[in-house]
Amino acid sequence: MEEEKILRKLFLGFIHIHILHHAKEHPIYGSWMLEELRGHGYSISSGTLYPILHNMEEEALLYKEEKNVGGKIRKYYTTTEKGNVVLIEARKKAYELFKEIKD
Ligand SMILES: [Zn+2]
Repeated sequence: MEEEKILRKLFLGFIHIHILHHAKEHPIYGSWMLEELRGHGYSISSGTLYPILHNMEEEALLYKEEKNVGGKIRKYYTTTEKGNVVLIEARKKAYELFKEIKD
């Protein structure tokens, strides 16, 4: 459906902001972030989220650390200084937009 495609594109931006926000508070990993986003009503698959995390790491918005958790390697991501600059700007814009459209 065309509307769904457009919404997905919009939500991708929101999802990036969620990731930067949470990874700034504490290191996050994929399945934790999936649950978080689902709690906000986004139906996103790991096949969509994981490449986003990977790209954000390549863009130096996130810093990756691998930790051994019960014999399994888990990738943890933390927001970098650059990611934080982006988050602050995105937050400003999101708030500005929210104020305008909320009613
Ligand atoms: Zn969130």
